[in-house]
Amino acid sequence: MKPEIRIGAGWDSHAFAPGVRLWLGGIEIEHPQGLAGHSDGDVLLHAVCDALLGAIGEGDIGTHFPPDDAKWRNARSSVFVRHAAQLARGEGWEIANLDTTLILEQPRIGPLREALRESVAGLLGIEGGRVSIKAKTPEGLGTAGAAIAQATVLLQRG
Ligand code: MG
Repeated sequence: MKPEIRIGAGWDSHAFAPGVRLWLGGIEIEHPQGLAGHSDGDVLLHAVCDALLGAIGEGDIGTHFPPDDAKWRNARSSVFVRHAAQLARGEGWEIANLDTTLILEQPRIGPLREALRESVAGLLGIEGGRVSIKAKTPEGLGTAGAAIAQATVLLQRG
């Protein structure tokens, strides 16, 4: 079979709120505020999930895990990512690499980068070298109260 590739892009944002635990990339991070929303608010994993689903033309996170379905309230986003990766693998796709960008004021991602990379790679079942975690502060965007995540994934098969 001729080698094939697919690319997928994901984007998500969540607002910070007090009294909420902060989940990023599948790990809980010590921080005064967390990301509010459907499930655990893990903005990075939501973007990764959408990138995977986009690459295989399988809709988006809301298609598979409707936010109005009580079953997914407070769900761990690692469940969503594992499901999306499994769907892709089921169609014979391998993840060549994943590149992500977080845009947020706090917490600083530098000290967390390696842990995030290993966590996301573990959920996807690939080595850490295939995962990139980048971060920017939202200069000029006025989004200090939110976290934004972008993800791009490349799949290959054949
Ligand atoms: Mg989300």
